Amino acid sequence: MRVEIVAVGTELLLGQIPDTNSQWLGERLAANGIPSHFHQHVGDNHERIVLAFRTALARSDAMIVCGGLGPTQDDITRAALAEVMNVPLDRDEGLVAKIRAMFESRGRAMPDNNLLQADVPRGASIIAQTRGTAPGLICAVGLKVVYAVPGVPNEMSEMFERAILPDLLSRQRQAGETAVIRSRVLRTWGTSESALAEAVSARFDALEDGGGVTIAFLASGIEGIKVRLTARGENDDEAWALLAEEERYVRTLINERFGDIIFGVDDESMEDVIAQRLIGRGATLALAESLTGGLIASRLVNVAGASQWFRGGVVSYASQVKFDLLHVPEGPVVSPEAAEAMARGVRELFGADIGLSVTGVAGPEEQDGLAPGTVFVGLDLGGRVEHVALRLPGDRPRVRAYSAISALDALRRALDRTTPPSTLL
Ligand code: ATP
Ligand code: MG
Repeated sequence: MRVEIVAVGTELLLGQIPDTNSQWLGERLAANGIPSHFHQHVGDNHERIVLAFRTALARSDAMIVCGGLGPTQDDITRAALAEVMNVPLDRDEGLVAKIRAMFESRGRAMPDNNLLQADVPRGASIIAQTRGTAPGLICAVGLKVVYAVPGVPNEMSEMFERAILPDLLSRQRQAGETAVIRSRVLRTWGTSESALAEAVSARFDALEDGGGVTIAFLASGIEGIKVRLTARGENDDEAWALLAEEERYVRTLINERFGDIIFGVDDESMEDVIAQRLIGRGATLALAESLTGGLIASRLVNVAGASQWFRGGVVSYASQVKFDLLHVPEGPVVSPEAAEAMARGVRELFGADIGLSVTGVAGPEEQDGLAPGTVFVGLDLGGRVEHVALRLPGDRPRVRAYSAISALDALRRALDRTTPPSTLL
């Protein structure tokens, strides 16, 4: 039972509004185990809408059309549907009365145009409107089915939940095709999308011919690369079991190639993971930030209840502050020694168990002969001091954002005792 979504509206083609309806429908269909292989956008033009409908019906079992059911001249979905069904439009007097009553209840006269919304392709059934004036339609076209709903997002979603989804699920049951789709996102930091794809390419190819599991990569900029695994099973248990097996397999492939770059799953952010680790150990953290200027502290306090483990931080931007406040020895301030001294200094200053620091060259100019992207992370874990040297790519904002997540990742690895990468390139 493959469902195609057709979003009607010239404003979608012109980029004047984003097509959030298709996005929402896509997500709801997937969550209910209903496959959708195509989404179309088409403008308010009769011939092209008819073409889009015919195309969808030729390759999918069902179609959800949103938009163009309103009362104005550019709302022509109904007429296009009647043409594709090869039936006339009949005015439904019951609908006329309902639409008239809706206007009267608001103390307004009904414009004649609104009568158009009572036109129904012969043989179609109606999805009653509870929010706006346009009713939705369910139309049989041969063995296939078309659902038409208004473009207004809350009217569309309400009709989908109330009328379309139950109908689709019952058709799926009748066809003996019930399925559930479950997915899991593995979140990585420290390598590129292409390198990751290469590491799992053998698996990727093996999965090409179906088998109920798919792998996708999502580059998420300063948050790393996400690997999304999706499994399709006959029921919840089967889908989760398939997913768990696939996750074990892909984790092994990634670990063998890159070490411990998977820092979390699904919606877990790097700061969530740090919070869990610190809470697990009952340890507190203090920060000394130079080029990140508070970015790391800001990320950490995204986590609710951060005061339990985060003591605070110093933005030691000027060299003199590093010397005076953190007791960094006079000398170059972008160096492994300075990073370590900052971590030790801030740990002592805040009476924390762990000190984390970052110093580096954000760019665009080089500093003391060091290229932009040269960054040192310092760690003081209860008196044991170490550092990590990084070469980060990108312009100033990117180097700063990468420095923040890399510093947290270095801390995660130090807590887990795995070796950090020295480069992101
Ligand atoms: P109405 O009865 O309100 O005229 P309609 O079925 O004719 O509904 P449209 O005229 O196509 O729908 O769109 C109405 C409004 O709904 C648009 O102005 C837009 O804000 C929103 N809309 C339409 N299509 C989409 C879409 N695909 N995604 C998000 N919003 C949409
Ligand atoms: Mg409209």
